[in-house]
Amino acid sequence: MLILIADKFDDVLPEKLKKFGEVTTDIGRLAEAEVVLVRAATKADKAFFEKAKQCKLIIRGGVGTDNIDKAAAKEKGVEVLNTPKASSVAVAELAFAMMLAVPNRLIEAHNAMLEGKFLKKEIKRTELYQKTLGLIGIGRIAQEVATRAAAFGMTVLAYDPYVKSSPVAKMVAKLDELVAKADYVSLHVPLTDETRGMFNSALIAKMKKGAVVVNAGRGACVVPEDVKAALDSGQLGAYATDVWPSDPPPADYPLLKHPKVIMIPHLGASTKENLLRIGVEVVEILSQRKGGK
Ligand code: NAD
Repeated sequence: MLILIADKFDDVLPEKLKKFGEVTTDIGRLAEAEVVLVRAATKADKAFFEKAKQCKLIIRGGVGTDNIDKAAAKEKGVEVLNTPKASSVAVAELAFAMMLAVPNRLIEAHNAMLEGKFLKKEIKRTELYQKTLGLIGIGRIAQEVATRAAAFGMTVLAYDPYVKSSPVAKMVAKLDELVAKADYVSLHVPLTDETRGMFNSALIAKMKKGAVVVNAGRGACVVPEDVKAALDSGQLGAYATDVWPSDPPPADYPLLKHPKVIMIPHLGASTKENLLRIGVEVVEILSQRKGGK
């Protein structure tokens, strides 16, 4: 069996996979590979599956499988799996770091010092303590964010039509009710037909003036023109994002270079520890298949 590692995984992974067959990182061998490992960089579209003639299984190292055309995979008889457990802590820590960066004005203070300005009197911080966090989606990552927020003394609310109750958040039945109550809103939903563009001007209008939005979910869940207008008008206080409509976003993406936007180049899953955990989950998947489970 040939295993193709198409994207960047932990350096020790090829060695760990040798017990299952031959391992290559040469994308030129796509046509021969039975198993293909991708992260977010490879776009596994129809043309990809046309080329992957021997492929039986594609594993997305990470959570979101929106870079894989599931219909095309199904048509070619390719099973699509991911490693859903590994990344939760890594992404939650980044979402929380972005949430801390805004009220602590970290970027602004740092940049001012780079310019030789010591803004001790000018910069006033605010606290997360006793503020309300509204989580959109209460899956694995959001639950990790919720626990951290509780430790900071925040009230944690969540909206998720597919989850009735949560041990770490008080559920709110309607999305507009959630955002109306929140000082901070954090997005943790997959990209689906339902969530694409869900964060738009109609929803933003329901929010508290000056609320902060954190996005470590998917870039296409927000309508960037609407977020920009709300940042310009002051309806939104800040938008901190790790995610983009594409990696990297197009040069004319409306939120690039906005002073109220904090930008991270899709690093949510990119901790050393997480790359190792993703590798462990990949090995678990292949071991189970080898064992006939
Ligand atoms: P998960 O499947 O555990 O949780 C997703 C939750 O979203 C589920 O509880 C689901 O019911 C809920 N949901 C689905 N549709 C919804 C809707 N319309 N409104 C509200 N809730 C809805 O997934 P997870 O591990 O928590 O990951 C969440 C998302 O984070 C992924 O799908 C991916 O898009 C994103 N992600 C980003 C990075 C990154 O690098 N920034 C890394 C991993 C995952």
